[in-house]
Amino acid sequence: MTSRVKIECPCCGWEPDGGAHWMCTCGWVWNTFDTAGRCPNCGKQWERTACIPYMGGCHAMPPHVDWYKGLDDWLEDELSKVEKSVPAVV
Ligand SMILES: [Zn+2]
Ligand SMILES: [Zn+2]
Repeated sequence: MTSRVKIECPCCGWEPDGGAHWMCTCGWVWNTFDTAGRCPNCGKQWERTACIPYMGGCHAMPPHVDWYKGLDDWLEDELSKVEKSVPAVV
């Protein structure tokens, strides 16, 4: 693997450690970067992803895609899968 996507907060540079730090409005807790911002329980697509202050991050809630550094085919593939799997209702 020569191309790797780096994930970090665009505001403070905090890098997620792979832990489940995000909670959906349905109560599910998971690592949002495993699913490109989509709740695995209820399917809600989160366009913004909160930074995690208690893990060393800030209080910003930037757009999910802004977390990815070095956009490449992997991310485009992931995001296109997300778009296809989300119903066209908001
Ligand atoms: Zn949910
Ligand atoms: Zn941050």
